[in-house]
Amino acid sequence: MRSEFELIRRHFVRPAPGTRLSVGDDCALMTPSPGQELAVSTDVLVAERHFFGNTDPYRLGRKSAAVNLSDIAAMGARPRWATLGITLSPAQDEPWVEAFARGFHEELRAHGTDWVGGDTTAGPLAMIAVTLLGEVPPGQALLRSGARAGDDIWVSGTPGDAALGLRFLKESLPLSEEDRRYCLARLETPTPRVALGLALRGIAHAAIDVSDGLLADLGHILDASEVGACLELARIPRSMAMLRQQALPDWPLLVLSGGDDYELCFTAAPESAAAVQRAAAAADVPVARIGTVTDKGDRILYDGDGRPMDMAWQGFDHFRNA
Ligand code: ADP
Ligand code: MG
Repeated sequence: MRSEFELIRRHFVRPAPGTRLSVGDDCALMTPSPGQELAVSTDVLVAERHFFGNTDPYRLGRKSAAVNLSDIAAMGARPRWATLGITLSPAQDEPWVEAFARGFHEELRAHGTDWVGGDTTAGPLAMIAVTLLGEVPPGQALLRSGARAGDDIWVSGTPGDAALGLRFLKESLPLSEEDRRYCLARLETPTPRVALGLALRGIAHAAIDVSDGLLADLGHILDASEVGACLELARIPRSMAMLRQQALPDWPLLVLSGGDDYELCFTAAPESAAAVQRAAAAADVPVARIGTVTDKGDRILYDGDGRPMDMAWQGFDHFRNA
């Protein structure tokens, strides 16, 4: 392995067109757009806990950027700058670092974000800490606390696909070649919904990105907004891969509580439904109305036949810890 400085010079110094002074000095220097609020988010990924040590490093680099871009997207902010703190264990040789850095940089650049600095150390376990800075006009950020009774509840994409991919990896769930490729791509290279978050400014009342599972993350909106919800399982869109798992007894658990989707869940007034659809079309992401915000504290989930489902909203816990 080369020295720390050689690694940084070879792999971490990248063009940063939106940055005055990038990697190489004691600090990076950026010029925020006048009058904007800064949105800042950090995520830490630990080997064998958040990713498998043998994950393809290029895909891991992309995902490390994507999960943070997703938080910025969920605020309706525009991502601008990123830093990477990384601990490299002996398992990460230079080709690993090269592929990781390439993936990290490509995902950032696809969303107009500069990689402006970080820190690199050797350690027993690979660890990746990413900080993302974004900008949003004051008062326009999409908070978790803005949902109002009567709002529609929306979700983008088809939740549960990443969990399906994970079940294939962990439990060898049989999947066709096509479905396997699709689900693993959803798991390993999620698409942060940055354009959708931006398009929902001024339309959505509350938003969150689905990282821990749809019910769990919607639950954070409900908690923060002090409202309840009524959801319909049948309205939640499913991918072809998920539809082909109809015989799997717990497919609803994957859809409702599978994590790692990085879709957006948000609420908006019913009068805004057409505006939401226009925003989604502009962002090129499908969205679906899956329920309603209520003023009661309870959280009700209906199955496809209109019967309340027994599944606790906290049912994700044992799933997640499995
Ligand atoms: P210091 O000792 O002052 O922290 P470093 O030697 O750690 O400086 O870093 C030198 C330069 O390399 C800094 O500009 C820093 O931001 C950059 N750098 C270090 N590690 C990374 C990384 N993982 N990604 C991007 N830039 C990095
Ligand atoms: Mg340092």
